[in-house]
Order: sequence, then structure tokens, then C-alpha cells
Amino acid sequence: MGPPGAGKGTQAAVLARDLGLAHLATGDILRNETAAGSPVGLKAKTFMEAGRLVPDDVMTQLVGEYVVKAAKANGFVLDGYPRTLPQADALQALLEGASIVLTAVVNLEVPEEVIVARLANRQTCPKDQRTYHPVNNPPGKPGVCDACGSALVTRNDDSEAVVRNRLRVYRESTAPLVEFYKKQGLLKSVDGLAAIPKIVLAIKGILDEAQTAGPDSGRGTGRGETP
Ligand code: AMP
Repeated sequence: MGPPGAGKGTQAAVLARDLGLAHLATGDILRNETAAGSPVGLKAKTFMEAGRLVPDDVMTQLVGEYVVKAAKANGFVLDGYPRTLPQADALQALLEGASIVLTAVVNLEVPEEVIVARLANRQTCPKDQRTYHPVNNPPGKPGVCDACGSALVTRNDDSEAVVRNRLRVYRESTAPLVEFYKKQGLLKSVDGLAAIPKIVLAIKGILDEAQTAGPDSGRGTGRGETP
């Protein structure tokens, strides 16, 4: 979890690569659906362009399909979902249905004023969705994705006006989840201003601890994976 621009995508991609997990990023999935012109993509497009949340029922159906697939594989990192309380309830039901125990929710903390500056300069690879920043996380060659060589672009919803709206939506709809998961003893906050490798280490430490604690100290009765 974390506000837009907190570094969720960057961290989730590294964790997925290092731990051999699927990376389920709802924003990426929606952008792919939109580019493909699928019915879900067309429904989502106007919400995304305005920095608003795609309706909960659309999201839950979408995530449900991926969670069921990923649960059969090696596990997954969930990035950008849930973003509302109804989505958190739906996720709980999905995980229970797939016998997966939620043992940790990682929350990247970054102040709002830093986010606007970060996103205004963010560049994204249109092919593999990696993100870069000229100062915090520059590509080896300016304007080119390190991984696939594609020309980097600015996301449509990274303009300042849309970023401010995304932050407002975060405050109103998503921030309450921090309290929701804190009450359940699952929330693990990490300083999102630290250097990227330092944040990776901190999150890996949290996941190790959650895994060592095992399903008995978590909730539910499933196999104990940590999404
Ligand atoms: P992201 O790449 O995570 O910043 O997501 C980009 C946009 O996709 C968001 O601003 C929303 O419009 C939409 N989106 C992604 N995940 C969700 C979600 N869980 N619920 C609703 N809308 C979402």
C-alpha cells in the first residue's frame, strides 16, 4: 500500500523478481486492458484518465481472476489493490476462498509534497511498466528503458492536476485502509523516502518475519503465503 508515487510498483517489481513471485499490479493490468480495447479496459479508461478509482465491482472481478491463477503458481505480490474498504473485504473473501493467509500489509509512507514532485518527473516504460526518475532512479541511458530499450513516456495520469486528484482520492478512499489493517495487526509501515535498495531490504525483512511467524500467528487457516 501507499499513495500514488510512493514506489509501490518499483518495490513490487523487485520483490517479484527476487522472490520468484507473480507481480499483480492492478494499474498495469488496467492499462493493458485499455490498450487492448477490451470491455473492462474501455470501462476503466475514463476513470483512470481523471485520476478516479475504477468501480469496486469491476476491480474485484478483475483481481479475482488473477488471484485464482496466481494462487496455483508460486504466490504473488499484490500492488495497487485493495484501494477501498469494500475492496479489502472482497480481497479477504478471495484469499479465504483460495486458502491464502494475509500475514502482512506493507505500507510505504511518503509525504504528499514529495509525491507531486516525484510524479511530475516520472517516466514510465510503456512496454514493461518500469518507472524511472531523473534524480531518484535514473535509467542508464536517458529516456530509454534499461530492461527492454523502449522509449520512456509520461503517463497520461501523471499531469499535476490529475496527480492532485489521485492524492485526494487516496486520502478519502484508500487512507482508511491503513487504520483497517493496523487494527488487525497486519500493517507494516516503511519509510518510502529511503533509497530504493534500503526499502527493498526493509520489506524483505518484514516478509521473512511474517513467514517465520507462520500461519498460526496470522489469521485464517490457509497455507500461509504472504501476498
Ligand atoms: P496505479 O498504476 O496503481 O497508480 O493505478 C492507475 C489508475 O488505475 C488509478 O488511478 C485508478 O484509476 C486505477 N486503479 C488501479 N488500481 C485500482 C483499484 N484497486 N481500484 C480502483 N481503481 C484502480
